Amino acid sequence: MNICPICEGVGLVRVVDVTGKWVSRPCQCQQAEREERRIAAARIPQRYHDCTLDTYEIYHGADRSLAEALFQARRFVEEYPAGTAGKGLLFTGSIGVGKTHLAVGVLQRLVRERGVKGLFCDYRELLKNIQNSYNAQVNTTELELLKPVFAAEVLVLDDLGAQKPNDWVWDTVALVLNTRYNDRLTTIVTTNYADVPAGAGALTDAERAAREPSLGDRIGDRMLSRLAEMCIRVKMTGKDCRQTGVKRARFG
Ligand code: ADP
Ligand code: MG
Repeated sequence: MNICPICEGVGLVRVVDVTGKWVSRPCQCQQAEREERRIAAARIPQRYHDCTLDTYEIYHGADRSLAEALFQARRFVEEYPAGTAGKGLLFTGSIGVGKTHLAVGVLQRLVRERGVKGLFCDYRELLKNIQNSYNAQVNTTELELLKPVFAAEVLVLDDLGAQKPNDWVWDTVALVLNTRYNDRLTTIVTTNYADVPAGAGALTDAERAAREPSLGDRIGDRMLSRLAEMCIRVKMTGKDCRQTGVKRARFG
């Protein structure tokens, strides 16, 4: 192991503080280590490790909404926490436009540069894990699984609505969002569904069946309006970077 040349492995350096007194402070090498520990604790999946606000490219011909989304993501980081007042971001748009990329980019910045305790949570995986926890052989309870989701200072809830809805799914989404709302914690959400209500009552069953499902259909209109209170909307329009040559050509 390399010994830090500044603190010679002690982990502390002596500095003069604003009052002119000599005090001990953690050395830079400790700060880097702590930063990496915080990033590991945020459980960002390997495939998104390189997703930062600096690696999000505005390619030639990109829809204007993508540059606007990047701008909003950057501004959010700058203003957090005082200027964001507990609000998060809701990234909406079709698959592959870079919603998860930007959400992770914001999370990485806040965790690395602001010392935030953050967490990445895949919505479908969370529900699957909770369901598995009902299996007697698995020794964790629903509450244990949800504890970090409730506690994270900043949570990325990725792919909201991706699970086929039923009463249990709606109750679980409500539990997560309401708890975080009541505790005024910041939640950053991504979804492939348009953030419009299910339109219950306004549409006939046939009309509803004929149109694309919305986020309201997937998580319920009550949670949709709760999300509107919790998050600033960021609508992204563009092509799927996973399918087109854009990603291979421009992003390697
Ligand atoms: P979404 O969450 O909208 O479905 P992702 O964020 O997962 O899409 O993006 C799909 C892949 O394309 C990821 O590897 C992401 O890093 C990459 N990608 C998408 N848009 C961009 C962009 N503008 N610049 C760089 N990489 C991008
Ligand atoms: Mg995604």
